[in-house]
Amino acid sequence: LEWIASHAAMKVENARLYHTLTRTNAELDEAVKARDTFIAIAAHELRTPLSTLKLHAQMLRRFATRSPETFTPEMVVSRLGSIDRQVNRLDRLIDQLMNVSRIIDGGLAPSLEPCDLCQITRDVLSRFEQALADAGCQLSLIAPESVQGVWDLERLDHILTNLLSNAIKYGGGHPIELRIHADARRAQLAVIDRGEGIAPADVERIFGRFERVISSRQTKGMGLGLWIVRSYAESLGGQVHLQSTPGKGSTFTLDLPRHAPSR
Ligand code: ADP
Repeated sequence: LEWIASHAAMKVENARLYHTLTRTNAELDEAVKARDTFIAIAAHELRTPLSTLKLHAQMLRRFATRSPETFTPEMVVSRLGSIDRQVNRLDRLIDQLMNVSRIIDGGLAPSLEPCDLCQITRDVLSRFEQALADAGCQLSLIAPESVQGVWDLERLDHILTNLLSNAIKYGGGHPIELRIHADARRAQLAVIDRGEGIAPADVERIFGRFERVISSRQTKGMGLGLWIVRSYAESLGGQVHLQSTPGKGSTFTLDLPRHAPSR
């Protein structure tokens, strides 16, 4: 009996070891795959604006050296405007990549301070004036004067920036609504668009890393924004919910405790 018991214990131990080893291998494979995808997508996304920048720089040089007589101020202004947009895009991409590596490295402790969600929203909106005008898009903000809480200002700014730029990108130029609502314990911010919407099967998936909806392939993006949004919302003790109807639009709601838990 003793022999059987010790033999069985050994088998369980072996099985556990085997399980740990195989699980570790599978996890390792997944990590390697995620890293490779990350590098491939990041390189691709960074190269596109860089190629456009190079093209504009070459055109400007050619104009200036070979045929300065055809070189009108409007042409220069238009090329410089394009260069400016591509530099902004590169800036946003690098910002996203840095956020991802910060989250992966476990640097998720928020730096909490008293702040006003409505003020942060107005500040973010002021940066979007040009993008909204370019998309021919109206935006209305329905919010009280102020909603105070203890949050991480930079993360709230980042969450809002991502949700808003998605609403513009996928909103098809239709009006966008931003609503802020709060009670004594929680604050909610909803970004509502009337764009293409998201199929029920994709609603959870798009919060994953590098996940995009097939129909979005025409638009630029790495599929990282919502993953960062969710990670940041959770780091503040909150959540992000999505309600969407294909063809009618989407509502992304950020739900936060007014006093984010410190870690
Ligand atoms: P990106 O926009 O860079 O691809 P995100 O993580 O922000 O990455 O979004 C993931 C995907 O979710 C997008 O590629 C798009 O397919 C879909 N998506 C996000 N926001 C919206 C929206 N407001 N309306 C429709 N689809 C959206």
